[in-house]
Amino acid sequence: MKNSLTSFDTEHIWHPYSSITNPICPLLVESASGVFINLNDGTKLIDAMASWWSVIHGYNHPIITLEAKKQLDKMSHVMFGGLTHEPAINLCKQLISMTPPSLQKVFLSDSGSVAVDVAMKMALQYWQSNGLSNKTKFVALRGGYHGDTLGAMSVCDPDTGMHHLFKELIAKQIFIGKPLAKYGEKASQVEIDQIEKLFQSKKDTIAAVILEPILQGAGGMYFYSVDFLKNLRDLCEKYNILLIADEIATGFGRTGELFASNHADIEPDIMCLGKAMTGGYLSLAATLTNEKIAEGICNSAGKVFMHGPTFMANPLACKISETSINLLLSNDWKSNVKRIETQLKKNLTPYKIHSKINDIRILGAVGVIEAKENVDMQKVQNLLPKSGVWLRPFGKLIYTMPPYIIQNNEIDKITSVMIDIVEECT
Ligand code: PMP
Repeated sequence: MKNSLTSFDTEHIWHPYSSITNPICPLLVESASGVFINLNDGTKLIDAMASWWSVIHGYNHPIITLEAKKQLDKMSHVMFGGLTHEPAINLCKQLISMTPPSLQKVFLSDSGSVAVDVAMKMALQYWQSNGLSNKTKFVALRGGYHGDTLGAMSVCDPDTGMHHLFKELIAKQIFIGKPLAKYGEKASQVEIDQIEKLFQSKKDTIAAVILEPILQGAGGMYFYSVDFLKNLRDLCEKYNILLIADEIATGFGRTGELFASNHADIEPDIMCLGKAMTGGYLSLAATLTNEKIAEGICNSAGKVFMHGPTFMANPLACKISETSINLLLSNDWKSNVKRIETQLKKNLTPYKIHSKINDIRILGAVGVIEAKENVDMQKVQNLLPKSGVWLRPFGKLIYTMPPYIIQNNEIDKITSVMIDIVEECT
């Protein structure tokens, strides 16, 4: 419904991936609490998206909000060049202790896309410092998504990503197929052999492989083989190629493991974190790496890592992040994610045979319906306020990754609206 606020919005303010001349009128949010987004007209919507994977503990969590307020009274921000502070130190201690043991060095930045660019720069600087400056290419998976900055865009899927729009600017990378084997299946040997051939012939120019472990998110909500990931890790090792795990969406328990890399029991050389890292309160991201890469980059006097955002390690965001992670780890998050998975499976699996549905995929606290036809977004935007649920489908995908505090009866409501969308909007 339009009012003077939303009229100003549609006239002047860009929203993600939107047209300013032909905007879809956004819903006006007044506040949010627990699993609910509260609209200004009194409507309450269950947030089935956790604000794009981030709000794992629900909105306005009393403990996080209290710690944020205390931190605000001390300092909201201070530059990180030449200065440091406890919130950053405590957060990095925590990140190092919970991620694979070899990841000991942390670079904090503002957002997921920047964390990916930082990871790519780490890989490039590492090889340069070691006299292998021809190793400049990245291998990425089709169906992958890594963010919207120029570096990150170059490793997003070349067809569904933005390569055609920014051809001149985007670096040409090497793409391998989206893994054929799904989650729970063994990797295809033919596919692994093809990748090995590629690595054999191009190892002198490949800096790193970048991938979203196990769950490809915004590029298609696809869950792939653990065995594929293990094989790829081994091939990277064999051919002296780094592995970057983009855990920005998958991190902090979403797939049923603390990090999706843990499904395959692998340690990447570089790992990117973001989204749920602050429980969805503020933007903060991290790029972690091992001693070999970190010391390789800075292997002689004067050699530094060349990145340094203004808001690097923002104390407020760090304090919030530390509190959110403590909260996650002090709860039995694993059983809780399992509970969500079980409920999603119970509710959605019977619809596998629905005439308008192509596939149903569930892993951890993520439930995906792949419809046969694209979703009509205008119809969805009209349906949602009446439905009591907030979803944000794209293409043929109607999916949920709710806050971990979601109750089973709320999951029932979400899945029933997902089916309504299939029936009424595709
Ligand atoms: N990598 C992955 C896997 C993501 O899902 C996203 C965000 N959708 C990003 C990177 C980019 O993060 P941000 O939007 O915070 O820049």
